[in-house]
Amino acid sequence: MDSEKRFEYLNRRLRGIAQYAYKHSPAIKNKMDAAGVKPRDIQTVKDLEKLPITKKTELMELQKKNPPLGGFEGVPLHALRRIYISPGPLYEPGETEYDELGWAQGMYAAGFRPGDIAINTFSYHMVPFAMQMVDNSLFRIGCITIPTGVGNTEQQVNILKNLRVKAFCGTPSFLLNLAEKAEELGLDLRKDLILRVGFVAAEMLSESLRSELEERFGMIIRQGYGTADIRCLGYECMEKNGMHIPDDKIVEIVDPQTGKQLGPGKTGEIVATTFDRSYPLIRFGTGDLSTLTETRCPCGRTSPRLLKILGRVDQATKVRGLFIHPGQVDDVAARFPQIARCRVRITRSAHKDEMTFLIELTGEEGQSDKLREGIERSVRDIMKVRGEVQFVPKGTIPDGGKKIEDQRTWE
Ligand SMILES: [Zn+2]
Repeated sequence: MDSEKRFEYLNRRLRGIAQYAYKHSPAIKNKMDAAGVKPRDIQTVKDLEKLPITKKTELMELQKKNPPLGGFEGVPLHALRRIYISPGPLYEPGETEYDELGWAQGMYAAGFRPGDIAINTFSYHMVPFAMQMVDNSLFRIGCITIPTGVGNTEQQVNILKNLRVKAFCGTPSFLLNLAEKAEELGLDLRKDLILRVGFVAAEMLSESLRSELEERFGMIIRQGYGTADIRCLGYECMEKNGMHIPDDKIVEIVDPQTGKQLGPGKTGEIVATTFDRSYPLIRFGTGDLSTLTETRCPCGRTSPRLLKILGRVDQATKVRGLFIHPGQVDDVAARFPQIARCRVRITRSAHKDEMTFLIELTGEEGQSDKLREGIERSVRDIMKVRGEVQFVPKGTIPDGGKKIEDQRTWE
């Protein structure tokens, strides 16, 4: 579909789901009424700006008040086949029929083909991903699924070998566990196994881990992105230049404070709308930050793409009026192999924001004015805000902690 045709197509489906949800989902009707919006006011993607963004916390509150699903379900409860539980807890309706396209498009783009034997190592319990989304999507492509779930690495290695498994679904770290276990058992990953394609999700995939796994197994690994509520929102093709947005979703990138749509190239929150009648979420805020591009992908797909996920909205902030986010902190760090850990600290003195870039080096003897100046220049380039570099001793910055620490108080 060219972009104009796609725009028409999405607008048509949006009008359909707005009408449907208003009629069948009490929670969506309440939200639209509160905003003074009728279904006929929603004609195009731009009109979505008239509606407030629904956040995960709001879903949880409404589910508590009105269990089990908070009135967001678009079909009577008895028509549902399952109810899934995501951390929160947040409950998601599992419909009788699964007709979502996104994950299947993503696996196909990664190289999954009919007749392939696939291992699905995502967890089959509670959460909707493994059983509802991945399993159904593998079936849709025509793959034969082995529903192994997580854990039992030795048994899983034997399954890979004995059943001649060609395709892997799971987290990158679990695939790494399998590689280690297989080698421990004396197997040659390339000769004794025939894993050729992998579809990974639910975890950040670093390029170094991707190429390590691709090299060790002799396979291709592509990733997908989505949420338990909205399902697939993006998948990589062979070109690995961002994530194509599936045809059955509307994705907006919005200013997290105003909810207004931002054009391609601007960083904002990923907000999504699905056309799923059993769970017709309209303007669901994922809390993730990204940038969208509409430039043509050499693979031939014409859908817009999400460039990488840049962190969480609640970790982004404004410094001297400019929006900064964790992805930029990572981008600065990526330019300097000497940086072991880093964190940005925002303080306020004399009514002015100050930004300090705290850095732990891999070797402490590496501190120099030249390195300091280089990092400060990169901070300016990438974050567009001047920041001062401060080298700190090893162990100062906690593992897996916040990338941006906002110490400002507003009194
Ligand atoms: Zn592509």
